Amino acid sequence: MHDDIDVIIAGCGPTGAMLAAELRLHDVRVLVLEKDTEPASYVRIVGLHIRSLELMAMRGLLDRILPHGRRRPAAGFFAAIPKPAPKGLDSAYAYLLGIPQPVIVRLLEEHAIERGAQVRRGRAVAAFEQDDEGVTVELSDGERLRSRYLIGCDGARSTVRKLLGVGFPGEPSRSDTLMGELKTGVPPEEIAAKVAEVGETHRPFWLRPFGEGFYSVVVPAGGVSDRAEPPTLEDFQRQLRAVAGTDFGVHSPRWLSRFGNATRLAERYRAGRVLLAGDAAHIHPPLGGQGLNLGVQDAFNLGWKLAAQIRGWAPETLLDTYQAERHPVAADVLDNTRAQMELSSAEPGPQAVRRLLTELMDFDEVNRHLIEKITATAVRYDFGEGPDLLGRRMPDIDVKQGHLYDLLHHGRGLLLDRTERLTVAGWSDRVDHVADPTAALDVPCVLLRPDGHVAWIGDDQQDLNDHLSRWFGEADLLCADAGAGGERE
Ligand SMILES: Cc1cc2nc3c(=O)[nH]c(=O)nc-3n(C[C@H](O)[C@H](O)[C@H](O)COP(=O)(O)OP(=O)(O)OC[C@H]3O[C@@H](n4cnc5c(N)ncnc54)[C@H](O)[C@@H]3O)c2cc1C
Repeated sequence: MHDDIDVIIAGCGPTGAMLAAELRLHDVRVLVLEKDTEPASYVRIVGLHIRSLELMAMRGLLDRILPHGRRRPAAGFFAAIPKPAPKGLDSAYAYLLGIPQPVIVRLLEEHAIERGAQVRRGRAVAAFEQDDEGVTVELSDGERLRSRYLIGCDGARSTVRKLLGVGFPGEPSRSDTLMGELKTGVPPEEIAAKVAEVGETHRPFWLRPFGEGFYSVVVPAGGVSDRAEPPTLEDFQRQLRAVAGTDFGVHSPRWLSRFGNATRLAERYRAGRVLLAGDAAHIHPPLGGQGLNLGVQDAFNLGWKLAAQIRGWAPETLLDTYQAERHPVAADVLDNTRAQMELSSAEPGPQAVRRLLTELMDFDEVNRHLIEKITATAVRYDFGEGPDLLGRRMPDIDVKQGHLYDLLHHGRGLLLDRTERLTVAGWSDRVDHVADPTAALDVPCVLLRPDGHVAWIGDDQQDLNDHLSRWFGEADLLCADAGAGGERE
């Protein structure tokens, strides 16, 4: 039994790897247990949306990720309705970065390890018990480990969620989709013409050139089947013929898979010392490309709160704000994917609604509303009454040192102060203070949480102190004596 671990994370997918890195910012001792010996190699192309790109920028990770992806316009995400990017997206990162999921996972895992997280592959969490002091985790080979918290980032079929007995209500999959990489026996122009014709009414459906002579093929599976069994080449040929009238001569598959459209949300994200994040907490069809983004954003919300709990400065209810903030966000994503599913149906009613929405999206405000939803830039946590910016993400504005996000690399809170007369003394071990009358803000001061959300707006020291206590715990007299320990020039 080890008792030198603060947090065990089950699962080294994007959510688990991001969470491990976030916890390491605060010197939390983290062990990630991953059941697979190797990272998954199947190439689900995934887009990092605006908010995830912002988070990567906030931790100085974007430069590492950008060379591996392709920038595309922030457009056409909602039910794949083709529209140009809306005007006035308020972000320095207003694009989609197309990047294969295995690459993101590898980069995040490397980043977590560089920060000092331990990752043990080929180790599956099989059971656990929790008590007042911590959690005893049993692996599938019988080894037992002890930690203070256990986080289930173990995907849609989460063992942790099931063992915890947390309900996962929602809708089962009603139709599956086949997805794979195959070679074809038909000229590219012929494929493109047929795909354009069939794609008008059948969704999701595409054959897209993928390099090295392969095509990425997506076609409705024509029902629901046992996903434990991977689909076969014959399944693809049959479904392509049924949908497009031709199987395009597909052959030589590199990999074949199937995914469903189940939509479910965990009833609770926390039970004592065990919490859930990412697909372990919510699943939905991949329309709009939101699942990975949502999981990474869960990790960003949870990381600093759990670290605060472990470091001993968390206000009593801080850890519970994780569920209070993230559960409604996931519920909204589930709802927008339900709407997109309906709009993708070939039935005449949904097709008519799709045509109507397509017209409405010519209004820039409608288009922007939908893009902001999918890219998670519209998220506003409920921090109580206040100006519209309160609870929202702070964009990467210009400050005298350069870019605001560069000041958030260490995962600490930040007071951006145009008045130059406030102080964070008492909290300077947790919160930085940047006094900058030139900052591109239209309010006097903002207090940012480590996840970049605006926790306070104002110019009154006492009011600020109250909010520092609310988010960052009790003032530390030693920090107060040290005066401007968190001041940044
Ligand atoms: C076809 C398709 C396309 C998609 N496209 C997009 C997209 O464009 N954009 C987007 O944002 N999302 C997309 N998604 C969704 C995205 O892939 C998932 O939301 C994302 O992988 C969730 O990350 P996660 O880390 O929470 O879970 P996972 O990626 O499932 O990772 C969980 C990890 O836990 C491990 N594990 C499981 N059980 C245990 C155990 N008992 N002990 C230890 N380890 C365990 C697994 O091996 C796995 O490595 C798509 C999904 C599909 C199916």
